[in-house]
Amino acid sequence: MPRLYFSRKRVMVTGGAGFLGSHLVDRLLERGHEVLCVDNLFTGAKDNLAAAATNPRFEFLRHDVTWPLSVEVDEIWNLACPASPIHYQHDPVQTTKTSVLGAINMLTLATRLGAPIFQASTSEVYGDPHVHPQPESYWGNVNSIGPRSCYDEGKRCAETLFFDYQRQHDLPIKVARIFNTYGPRMHPADGRVVSNFIMQALRGEPITIYGDGSQTRSFCFVDDLIEGFLAFMDAPPEVTGPINLGNPSEFTILELAELTIRLTGSRSQIVRRPLPEDDPRQRQPDISFARETLGWEPRIALEQGLERTIAYFKALA
Ligand code: NAD
Ligand code: UDP
Repeated sequence: MPRLYFSRKRVMVTGGAGFLGSHLVDRLLERGHEVLCVDNLFTGAKDNLAAAATNPRFEFLRHDVTWPLSVEVDEIWNLACPASPIHYQHDPVQTTKTSVLGAINMLTLATRLGAPIFQASTSEVYGDPHVHPQPESYWGNVNSIGPRSCYDEGKRCAETLFFDYQRQHDLPIKVARIFNTYGPRMHPADGRVVSNFIMQALRGEPITIYGDGSQTRSFCFVDDLIEGFLAFMDAPPEVTGPINLGNPSEFTILELAELTIRLTGSRSQIVRRPLPEDDPRQRQPDISFARETLGWEPRIALEQGLERTIAYFKALA
């Protein structure tokens, strides 16, 4: 339904009570938009929306995206999906349904409204990559039947759906492949490496390195990532992606453990635990495309971002 009075946008964010979603909600409110957050609170929390909730332009709707939804909005950001392995493996069938049915429901809504729609895809579409660093043109190396497949294949299928809706219905789409991101509002018990290491270091507990710690990841601070989201959505409609968004500075997990110990001044010892099945060996985004088309690149170094994240977790403890 067209609006009578306002030029300001009505924006919907699914998964808006989660780590990334809540930061996005805050930035969209700062831009003056009306924001509808749709979330089933599986891994998200209303606490993440404490600041947003004081804003009269903010609304919250508790809803599971695996079910159809009819609302009137001008723009959709589809972030709903658990992102940490322990969360998405808790109910793998629901994880696949969230990515696939969630995408179908949101794309159907976007088609009815003619609204641009953003998809939070993932570096996991590259699986355990044979090409390093990973450009968008790499098709990936994904196990379709392993314990990570519900997430990886669900996200791959969602990408397929986005591009088919674009071709079939001329829908304006934006597909971002997000690489490991960290920062305030990560769930302290979500099992991801940055939150695990910081919590362990702050509590003086052993730092659990899975495998020998030589596997690599590239960690992006959340504020940088959200700037990338906004630059991507602001880019002309022909810039559909998929586009890699992440920080290309690559670290081994052992280096991350040592840095966390140093920055927290912790006396924690490092211990080894078995490497989970299908754990990717290396991951580093090739962000040439984002640099060229959006003029975007991350600015916050790992040490600086970790300091801010440690301060957040300290305040929680
Ligand atoms: P998160 O778990 O903090 O947030 C996910 C949000 O989605 C939560 O609020 C959760 O309650 C909600 N949700 C889950 N299933 C839902 C459903 N069926 N219906 C409605 N809401 C549902 O995770 P995050 O780190 O903020 O990730 C957000 C998005 O970004 C996810 O789609 C994730 O796959 C993607 N992503 C994140 C990272 C990262 O490093 N954080 C990396 C790659 C991709
Ligand atoms: N990891 C680890 N100790 C932990 C948690 C994770 O060594 O306490 C490792 C994990 O095996 C992986 C890397 O850190 O190699 C990143 O794990 P995370 O779950 O954060 O993200 P993903 O594997 O999805 O990139």
